[in-house]
Amino acid sequence: MVNITLIQWLTVVIQVAAVILALRLIPLTKKAMAWSLLSLAFLLMASRRTLDLLFSQSLIDDPLIHTLSTQMVAFTISLLLLIGIVLIKRIFIQQQRDADQLKKLSLVTEQSHSASVIFTPDAMIEYVNPKYCELYNASPQQLIGNTPAFLTAEHTPDSTLKKIWNKIRIGGIWKGEFCDTNTAGKQSWSRIVISPITNEKEQIVNYIATLEDITIEKQQRITIKELSLHDALTQLPNKIYFNQSLQLAIKDAECRKQTIAVLLLDINNFKEINNTLGHLTGDVILREISSRLNYIASQNSNHSLARMGGDEFLLYTTNTTAEQTLDLANQMKLAVQQPLHVENRNFDLSVNIGFACFPEHASSADELIKCADVAMYAAKASSHSIVQYQPDLDDGKLKRLELSSHFRQAAEENEFILYFQPQMNFKDKKILGSEALIRWLHPEYGMIPPDEFIQLAEQSGHIYMITEWVISNAMAQLSQWHKAQHYINLSVNVSATDIQNPELVSLLETELIRNKLEPAFITLEITENSLMLYNKQTISALIRIAELGINISIDDFGTGYSSLQYLTKMPVSHIKIDKSFVMKMLQNDQDAIIVRSTIDMAHNLGLTITAEGIEDEDTLQILEVLRCDHAQGYHLARPMNNQDFIGWLEHYNSQLEAPITASLPNTQRV
Ligand code: C2E
Ligand code: CA
Ligand code: CA
Repeated sequence: MVNITLIQWLTVVIQVAAVILALRLIPLTKKAMAWSLLSLAFLLMASRRTLDLLFSQSLIDDPLIHTLSTQMVAFTISLLLLIGIVLIKRIFIQQQRDADQLKKLSLVTEQSHSASVIFTPDAMIEYVNPKYCELYNASPQQLIGNTPAFLTAEHTPDSTLKKIWNKIRIGGIWKGEFCDTNTAGKQSWSRIVISPITNEKEQIVNYIATLEDITIEKQQRITIKELSLHDALTQLPNKIYFNQSLQLAIKDAECRKQTIAVLLLDINNFKEINNTLGHLTGDVILREISSRLNYIASQNSNHSLARMGGDEFLLYTTNTTAEQTLDLANQMKLAVQQPLHVENRNFDLSVNIGFACFPEHASSADELIKCADVAMYAAKASSHSIVQYQPDLDDGKLKRLELSSHFRQAAEENEFILYFQPQMNFKDKKILGSEALIRWLHPEYGMIPPDEFIQLAEQSGHIYMITEWVISNAMAQLSQWHKAQHYINLSVNVSATDIQNPELVSLLETELIRNKLEPAFITLEITENSLMLYNKQTISALIRIAELGINISIDDFGTGYSSLQYLTKMPVSHIKIDKSFVMKMLQNDQDAIIVRSTIDMAHNLGLTITAEGIEDEDTLQILEVLRCDHAQGYHLARPMNNQDFIGWLEHYNSQLEAPITASLPNTQRV
């Protein structure tokens, strides 16, 4: 009996202890309520057992109290059990839902197109999806337990690894690109995002990394970069690449106390080949020259060759002496001068080479190239085809280089200005027109005459931009004059390459319409020399311009060697005899004969003729006797800005209306 009582008391103690333990273990969440209720039920069971004991030991002697309290406790226990079970059922349902969701999530990860890996804070892989296995050509078993490749020093530089851990350890997300080489030596690129996974206490328990294969995208980017650094025609590095590579070479040479020489080679008269035989032939020649030069460059690992653009090539060589550089320049020269046979024609090309040395002449890549360019131009101007840079070579060349990079800006900011030089009709002494002559009002160099920049613009491919500016401004000006009742003509100079530009005709048309001008008031002046380079297409462009009703005049006539037959093929209505003959015709019989025969020839061909460069009254009078049609020159007036020109014109016209005492009104005030 005693033993049974003892066991019963022990049971009570154990049940109470279980309740206390259960309550301590239960997390204080709502879902834990069920467990609390069940625990309470156990507590009540213990209470009931206590009541039974108290009654059996006669500590409670009223049977009614005993029965009542026993029933109450039994009822409460049943109630609590019921509620607890309902709650537990709900918990199970919720858990099932969570499990389903987790399954879906894991399916997404499993079937994802991105490779995913989950790893521990000490970089041990716990999970990999099939894509990740595919990326590393390994099974999950081979990968799990190891460190992800992108977190090993073997694949990622220490500095990057440090950055990654510094970021993700504090809960940040790291994004970056990673290159890996597989066992077959094939390179692959991935874009990686590493994010931390935290528990409910916000502690980092894992990291997940997703890797997206960007190998193709990367290759495309590399190809685009390479394309932008290489010349499409010759496959040689271009100027940008050359410049970058030279910068690195300079840094290296500084450390090693070595020298560098930069050589710039320019093919003579290449533009004429392009203009007369077409760009396709020009391209074949350039490819051949580039392979010859490339052969020389490949003989020595110190040499680096590039195409600067057009017909210019750059080469730099490290650790060299002046003699070695001169020798190299000679090799390059001879290579280009070797006979060239293209499309059944033989070409004998010649070159000019300029070179500059580091550290002697300049210390930066840009400056070295500039100096080599100055030396190359000095070579062009001299009888030597190879010239080493010297500071006193020609300061003007540096100015030329600077100007060439500012043409567009000059046009946009209206730094150009047109001057106008009047042209007189011999017949009635009236001003029939004027020639528009450009000047550049440079913010630093002041007024720059056209002779100093037009040729440069032609060579650097900027001339059309200037011609566009001239044509639209000249026509706008002419329209103003017409509105002010000055019905005169206007001559505009255009370059050879402008005529080859398919946009010129439409530009002329647009400007005529915009300014409401009659085309017969406009004359395009094209030099005789540039006309001689023309092919069939350019002649047809000239015909289209003439069909618009615009006059075409041959400028600087007599300096070229145009045959009469050649002239008749051109839609030309006008000739301007070159000023060099006119200016000397009083002193030099030969020039006088040329002037006289040119006037006769022009008239025989039905063309009108202007003599420019008339500097004195005697020349003017002789030209009148020779039946020249129009006169232009300093004797009449120098080129003037618009305001001076209009003032001069009005003064001239007023004098003309007064009785004439000499052959020209007295207007020499400019
Ligand atoms: P050009 O077309 O032969 O123009 C005539 C040049 O001779 C002008 O020089 C003018 O000032 C100069 N001149 C006129 N009369 C006399 C004279 O009696 N004596 C002397 N010694 N010179 C005289 P400028 O304005 O310096 O122009 C030089 C050249 O620049 C022009 O020669 C033309 O080839 C070119 N040029 C001028 N403006 C333009 C332009 O808008 N476009 C293009 N493409 N070339 C232009
Ligand atoms: Ca002219
Ligand atoms: Ca001229």
